[in-house]
Amino acid sequence: MSPTAKSTKPVKKNGRRKRRYMTMNAYTNAMLQFDQAVEVLGLTPDQVAMIKDPRKIIQVSLPIRMDDGSIRVFQAYRVQHSIVRGPAKGGVRFHPKVTLDEVKALAFWMTMKCSVVNVPFGGGKGGIIVDPRTLSLGELERLSRRYFAALAQDIGPDQDVPAPDVNTNPQVMAWFMDTYSMRHGAHTPAVVTGKPLEIGGSRGRDIATAQGTVYCLVEAAKHLDMNLEGATVAIQGFGNAGANSAELLRKKGARIVAISDITGAYYNKKGIDIKAAVEWKADHDVILTDFETTGKAEKMDNPMDLLELPVDILIPAALENQVTEENAGRVQAKIIAEAANGPLTPAADQILNKNGTFVIPDILCNAGGVTVSYFEWVQNRMGFYWPKRKVTEELHWFMLKGFKSTLKASLKHDVPMRVAAFVVAIERLTKAAELRGLYM
Ligand code: NAD
Repeated sequence: MSPTAKSTKPVKKNGRRKRRYMTMNAYTNAMLQFDQAVEVLGLTPDQVAMIKDPRKIIQVSLPIRMDDGSIRVFQAYRVQHSIVRGPAKGGVRFHPKVTLDEVKALAFWMTMKCSVVNVPFGGGKGGIIVDPRTLSLGELERLSRRYFAALAQDIGPDQDVPAPDVNTNPQVMAWFMDTYSMRHGAHTPAVVTGKPLEIGGSRGRDIATAQGTVYCLVEAAKHLDMNLEGATVAIQGFGNAGANSAELLRKKGARIVAISDITGAYYNKKGIDIKAAVEWKADHDVILTDFETTGKAEKMDNPMDLLELPVDILIPAALENQVTEENAGRVQAKIIAEAANGPLTPAADQILNKNGTFVIPDILCNAGGVTVSYFEWVQNRMGFYWPKRKVTEELHWFMLKGFKSTLKASLKHDVPMRVAAFVVAIERLTKAAELRGLYM
């Protein structure tokens, strides 16, 4: 039988949980988080002004010739939040619900993320409003290339270095890199990270985000005196971040009792056979559809119930605003590891803090991806490629330092880990901005 959450569930209407809340605006969330940390640090208005707003917002219309000969125009964005500590850095997502505010929030979080793990980059993010599942491979390639061509003046190894995000992958990065290199008449692998290995990708980049999340979980478990071996885990989202976290945690002896993706949530009290789920996904157009027919898990009635399971660890690894003031009180996990960006609203955060949940904030928890992206950029510029062992060792060091600095700030200021991560990041940014001063 599918497990149910605590008995305080709101009334279900027509068999579905009634959602009483409005979806939070991601940028509003981001600014609330920023303001909280600024208050802890006691920054002056001038210091805040130097680092808060995005430095550049680009919006482009991309006309694409479809396979049937018609023309469709797609809206797309690139936001460079900061270049104070280095070139802007951040992924590009292809999703029908992309909005400018979402991209601004994600770009801001990239600035914070690079700073908290001390990677010498600023922050950026991009998005195209599209459901890539409705495009043929050729249409997807033309859209990807057109996007990069439209941004040609604003990106580059020393300006802005994109990467994969939701619904983009190494193939899309290869098209990006090729488009830029052809336009500039020079092989330029460092213009984008997350490329296939054959054309300058880094070993270990495919699992880096999940690896970073798991390094954080190891440290959090130590701090909380929890044994990861035998710990129960629920994971929302079974893409790059979610599926790899599942596999790495399984190797550490954790029991993954629930996984979900866009097709629904799948539960097995004894632990889901993660290898089988990964294989199933590979054989079914990269989704878990009908996974319950394997007999290895049952499908949950409401996928959102996954978030409320009685587990030790919850890993939201899909989209923003999944835990809100509506459902936060029913979350039972002791640790939440935010592999996704912005999965908790500020109101949810408050409830979880009050309930003593240890939240590893996104800007720290999923920073493994950008850290190995940094290694990829370094390798591209050196023209010398590291073995996976070196990537893993360096990633461990960066994540450990990031986690320890954050935990230290959390204890020093007596604030939750999220506020502490922003404190660490904003302190570094403020220092860099002051050292650079104002141009003219
Ligand atoms: P992905 O496209 O590989 O996977 C996303 C997964 O979420 C898919 O399994 C999809 O089916 C699932 N999903 C979508 N909507 C869902 C819903 N409503 N309920 C449950 N599952 C749903 O993307 P990813 O790269 O794994 O990114 C996931 C999150 O992690 C995003 O927030 C992203 O910004 C963040 N992130 C990713 C990386 C990275 O390196 N991939 C780095 C940092 C942060």
